[in-house]
Amino acid sequence: MEPKNVSLEMRDYIAEMGAETINWCMQCGLCTNLCPWRLVPGETSEHFNIRHMQRLGQMGMEGFEDEKSLFACSTCGMCQSNCPRGVKIIDNVRAMRSSIVGAGMPPANLRPVLGGAHANGNPWSGPREKRVDWQQGLDVPSFGPDKEYFLFVCCHSCYDPRSTKIARSIVRLLNHAGVSYGVIGAEESCCAESVRKVGDEELFQKLAQSNIDLFKAKGVAKIITTSPHCLWTFQNEYPEMGGEWEVVHYAQLLAQLIEDGRLSFPAGTEQNVAFHDPCYLGRHSGIYDAPRELLEKACGGAVNELERTRERSLCCAGGGGRIWAEIPMGERFAELRIVDACNRGAQVLATSCPYCVNMLTDACKSLDRQEVLDIKDIAELLAAALP
Ligand code: SF4
Ligand code: SF4
Repeated sequence: MEPKNVSLEMRDYIAEMGAETINWCMQCGLCTNLCPWRLVPGETSEHFNIRHMQRLGQMGMEGFEDEKSLFACSTCGMCQSNCPRGVKIIDNVRAMRSSIVGAGMPPANLRPVLGGAHANGNPWSGPREKRVDWQQGLDVPSFGPDKEYFLFVCCHSCYDPRSTKIARSIVRLLNHAGVSYGVIGAEESCCAESVRKVGDEELFQKLAQSNIDLFKAKGVAKIITTSPHCLWTFQNEYPEMGGEWEVVHYAQLLAQLIEDGRLSFPAGTEQNVAFHDPCYLGRHSGIYDAPRELLEKACGGAVNELERTRERSLCCAGGGGRIWAEIPMGERFAELRIVDACNRGAQVLATSCPYCVNMLTDACKSLDRQEVLDIKDIAELLAAALP
């Protein structure tokens, strides 16, 4: 990675786009050492150095735009939560990416993704009218003033056939517990968390504003999210645009329903179940106990804790737009996670994020471990354990 030019305009631009703490960096290198890219071999790992990236940003240097540099960060937060100077590394990465994407030069793999989100309101290029297809054969209420919660289903779980099973399981659980909730459907747009992380600020603003206007018009007061990415952006990014609601991840709500005696699971799976903490549920949102409490109910026993767990959880590599990256076998963080789970004797690796399910399922296949390890969202395990 050889930077080409020093540009004061570039330095000012990225500061304006959110890299407000970039000058706090003292170049200690702890971030680079903690980054999961240090755990895998390959060209991207050799290229990508987050400490160096902070330096380039500080100096306003250009030339960091290739995919294996700036766009390799999965925004897992491991570096940021341990930085001794409190540098908001992810905001810096996002701001630097926006200098490239805002100039109309996103990496080739992101072009159809962003184009699809512009055209259809979601990055999976699913037609709007098909956003509700995952509901087929299920009783899914429509949201209205008589409903307590609005259920916002992640675009991935609206369109991806594997992922729709997660949304369907959540609906079965909410129906069983008699929760007052509803969905809006085709008018919803992507929460745009990943869109902003890849640096398309304009598209993020457009999608977020259309959701804020829609939710306000429908009278939404409380939101249940199926993905921790939607949770995070609704809680941390929408308020500055005027969108403020009470937002919970479904795992938090289900744990509360169990405590209130509205949900119980007579049949445990009796399988050895390990839990993978999603970065955006754990490190970014501080939710560690609710998914474990749920799993203990579904499994009828203690959760098998992986070696790198809770605050030290290993990223699946699906955040920050990396779910759309092509990574060669042998260089995927999620493969390390599969090995972690197998080494602990787990039969099921559970998680609570559609991106994690996607990345871990692919890694399990690439390592040919699908006969010995099942990848499940906890909602699927819970729905299967319902009486
Ligand atoms: S961002 Fe933080 S951890 Fe990384 S080099 Fe700078 S001061 Fe050190
Ligand atoms: S957020 Fe995660 S992937 Fe990105 S630089 Fe930090 S540790 Fe590495």
